[in-house]
Amino acid sequence: MKILVVGGGGREHALVWKIAQSPLVEKVYCAPGNPGIAGLAECVAIAADDIDGLLAFARKHVVDLTVVGPEVPLTLGIVDRFQEAGQEIFGPSRAAAQIEGSKSFSKDLMARYRIPTASYRTFTDRDEAVAHIREQGAPIVVKADGLAAGKGVIVAMTVEQAVAAVDDIMVDAVFGAAGSRVVIEEFMAGEEASFFAFTDGKNILPLASSQDHKRVYDNDEGPNTGGMGAYSPAPVVTEALADEIIATIVRPTIEGMASEGCPYSGILYVGLMIADGKARVVEFNARFGDPEAQPLLMRMKSDIVPVLQACARGELTQTSLEWHDKAAVCVVMASGGYPATFEKGLEIHGLEEAEKIDDLMVFHAGTVLKNGRVVNNGGRVLGVTGLGSDVAAAIEKAYAGVGAIHWQGVHFRTDIGKKALGR
Ligand code: AMP
Repeated sequence: MKILVVGGGGREHALVWKIAQSPLVEKVYCAPGNPGIAGLAECVAIAADDIDGLLAFARKHVVDLTVVGPEVPLTLGIVDRFQEAGQEIFGPSRAAAQIEGSKSFSKDLMARYRIPTASYRTFTDRDEAVAHIREQGAPIVVKADGLAAGKGVIVAMTVEQAVAAVDDIMVDAVFGAAGSRVVIEEFMAGEEASFFAFTDGKNILPLASSQDHKRVYDNDEGPNTGGMGAYSPAPVVTEALADEIIATIVRPTIEGMASEGCPYSGILYVGLMIADGKARVVEFNARFGDPEAQPLLMRMKSDIVPVLQACARGELTQTSLEWHDKAAVCVVMASGGYPATFEKGLEIHGLEEAEKIDDLMVFHAGTVLKNGRVVNNGGRVLGVTGLGSDVAAAIEKAYAGVGAIHWQGVHFRTDIGKKALGR
């Protein structure tokens, strides 16, 4: 088979790495890819949101299956376009991807199917939003309705912060059109975890549990980011809780969408808040998590390709996946200053040394080649992912890799996975 992976971040590096191991696969392309992916796949210079360009490429090269990493092409309708052209593709349709692309769509869906989540209201008028915040008090959560690269959510500890967030989103439009509507939500306390399931629109194939670290600094301080690290398994998700998550969240979501004529196929990402042994939905995403994909795919023993193909065809019969017993931990190495502004083009040292370590993968995210050298080119630069007999050993392995790598201003958290150790 020939497979095209769309995207060029750490998640796509992990997907390409896993897909390339399948005995079913003879060739992997990645658009646009990155210097890490280039060692495993043929990178083609087509942007992830250039749907015409991607479709033309897939047809010309007789690609058997296209796998979409990021959310933007999904919300632009890449799956619909490929399917209309008779090209097999893994991911949800444009209509189904609204589960991530519109917070109000997903909140309304959860309300209709009584899926546990925070109570909420949607506003298109700034003054009404502010009046609601004053009535509810803090803490309270303000969310831009549309896609905002994981940064459109403000967990406000005071009423003033919440009002300022509404003004940023609705008046100053810092997230552009994504902020013409805001969702104002009840604050949920608890521990976060991520739960993923493959689906063909009817059948569900759950993955192992995982947890990411969204805040930029240790001890979950500082602003939210796209994710500073992740680990799997997440002990907070016990087997009983996983069953409950499937029964009360994943299944009603997939069945609800199908019954509304908007079947969801691909991978469903459920962001959860867990308190008192109960899980509630923080958000849905329409794709693999980044960085959760890195530890999850390193732990996955089963061949992923038949699963991706079965989801794309609506023929998912497999009911379980095999996992390595080992735990995996991914530490994100970021550019100094991220998630705000940062300098690009700084040479990254020590990659070869880190790559010599066993049971360790250095997944590239925001890197590029400049004069034959790898330099930083994005906020999140590398996802250094280690396997170990337990989370403690995987932490040690991942940080051994991190210790070998350096560039000017590099920033990473030193406490990835620590929460799992306390359990
Ligand atoms: P989202 O983009 O919806 O996942 O939100 C980003 C982050 O904001 C989440 O991972 C949580 O840490 C936090 N968050 C979002 N909604 C809530 C909520 N209702 N209560 C508490 N924290 C939240």
